[in-house]
Amino acid sequence: MKIAVLPGDGIGPEIVAEAVAVLEAVGKRFHHQFNFEEKQVGGAATDQFGVPLPDDTLKSAQDADAVLLGAVGGPKWDTIDYALRPERALLSLREQLGLYANLRPAKCYSILADASTLKREVVDGVDILVIRELTGGIYFGQPRGIAKDGTGEKGINTEVYTTPEIVRIAKVAFELARGRRLHVTSVDKANVLESSALWRKVVIKVHKEYPDVALSHLYVDNCAMQLIRNPKQFDVIVTTNLFGDILSDEAAMLTGSIGMLPSASVGESGGKRRGMYEPIHGSAPDIAGKDLANPIATILSAAMMLQMSFGLEKEAGVIEDAVLSVLNEGYRTADIYSEGTRKIGTKEMGRLILEKILC
Ligand code: NAD
Repeated sequence: MKIAVLPGDGIGPEIVAEAVAVLEAVGKRFHHQFNFEEKQVGGAATDQFGVPLPDDTLKSAQDADAVLLGAVGGPKWDTIDYALRPERALLSLREQLGLYANLRPAKCYSILADASTLKREVVDGVDILVIRELTGGIYFGQPRGIAKDGTGEKGINTEVYTTPEIVRIAKVAFELARGRRLHVTSVDKANVLESSALWRKVVIKVHKEYPDVALSHLYVDNCAMQLIRNPKQFDVIVTTNLFGDILSDEAAMLTGSIGMLPSASVGESGGKRRGMYEPIHGSAPDIAGKDLANPIATILSAAMMLQMSFGLEKEAGVIEDAVLSVLNEGYRTADIYSEGTRKIGTKEMGRLILEKILC
């Protein structure tokens, strides 16, 4: 199994190193051969090669069976030309690898429920999978731009969804709901937007192939409210690129711990199934190089990779159990620390998880 490893910027290299060590431990215990190829991406690549996604890095990602990414960006590159910004690398990777579905589980571990800004009884037991359409909608629709008009200037973006784009993301949602609690909530703004009206119509049609899965619809404003009011009502949420961008961050914060949440972006290109796995957080420049970053989101992203790209369910489960077991023993990185627990650094957290896997 060939894995392209793209650590990126800020805390990226620190957390990715721990995830790679965990994968190596899984390989050792279960006799799998993981071949890692590490490449530069983001600001680190711009510094060294003048572009955030060098051809060599893209080729490595295209040749690999899966991609493990840390995070990109930082103040150093905030003022450079938009086309050279680290974040461009992410958009290009998504586009080139055809990653049309972004999967973000937001699971609240009972033992960390007090880290949430919401009450324990509201968030304890939350287990939501937000599926965001990733390659269509307003982020890509034409026309777009800033043009002169009689009043000065006007900014234009266009929300466009085609039937095939909606069909494929709806199928991902229904398929994944079958491995969970059999409930999909489709989120749109069909009362106002024609693109959303089509979205709802197509989702209803695709649902006919999945009679065992329950389907409900929510307008995005109501969904934003329900996520805070009663998040436990949700199982799988499927929505557009823009709404998913916002709702997945909201769902993530229910759990109170940005350093804990993994993500997967899946799709296909060149006749090959694709998967890129990364923590939901950014490069955290404020804590980079200080052994303060929580590596668990990246380690759990590696677990998602084993499950989704390689079908290694048992191995993925072993990683999740190891994480839970270390948390149960009271070890915490600073971001999830509370009184009465033991504060440790990035490396120590990685080492403890790895030890559980090997024992
Ligand atoms: P951020 O997620 O990097 O950090 C937000 C806060 O959470 C910070 O206080 C940080 O210290 C903390 N934090 C994040 N991850 C943590 C971890 N694993 N352990 C402990 N604490 C953690 O968001 P930001 O500060 O808005 O962005 C910083 C840079 O990251 C920006 O350049 C931004 O563009 C980039 N970014 C990249 C990605 C990505 O690569 N996918 C995503 C979001 C932001």
